[in-house]
Amino acid sequence: MTNTTASGKVSLAPLADTGEADPRSQRARAERMAVTTLGGGLYEVESQSDNTYFVDLLGGRCTCPDHMMRGVRCKHIRRVAIEINEGRTPPPGKEAVECARCDSVVFVDERTADEVHFCDYCELQSGDAVVDRATGDLLIVARMTDRRADEVEVPGKDCTIAEYPTNREYPADDPVVEVLYPIPSGLRPEQLKEHHLRRYSFPRSRLKYPERPSDQSELTDFPESN
Ligand SMILES: [Zn+2]
Ligand SMILES: [Zn+2]
Repeated sequence: MTNTTASGKVSLAPLADTGEADPRSQRARAERMAVTTLGGGLYEVESQSDNTYFVDLLGGRCTCPDHMMRGVRCKHIRRVAIEINEGRTPPPGKEAVECARCDSVVFVDERTADEVHFCDYCELQSGDAVVDRATGDLLIVARMTDRRADEVEVPGKDCTIAEYPTNREYPADDPVVEVLYPIPSGLRPEQLKEHHLRRYSFPRSRLKYPERPSDQSELTDFPESN
């Protein structure tokens, strides 16, 4: 349960003249309301008049008098629909969670809301250069997996990645990232192939972006999250 409008009740910016003449649609936008996602397509709407109503979006129902007495598509139902269209509130089946690295909000399947999620920016991409927090080694991301560190065995060791001694300080439910070490100079072709086949698995939190790389300015805007 995440309130995506943590700052409290707000009104939405009016649209340019699009012929939104219906008074309920106008009030849905202009009045100060706070929408909270409850899951299962249910939303709590705190109205400008400090009443709290519950909207079942898929069922098209609301607990307010306007809907209960007149059966109309009230301003609360409309407000929820508008917020979803504008990306302010997650659609039914989705939940808003914070990116584990930068705290920006991402909408994820509500069944996976308890797992670790990263925003599009922080999700590591193949070829990204990252630093191993434990050793300071520079590594190259091969791929980010959807498996957890406590689900994957370390090859040749009788433990999972999460249980491996140097990984114990990182969350056991971190996603596993496969990385390569940069190519050492002077490798023969057959050694090069072997090098590329050797992938190492790390919990996501053990890897960080390099400090202020001079040639990748887009990465330098981000504060380190420790
Ligand atoms: Zn209503
Ligand atoms: Zn992020």
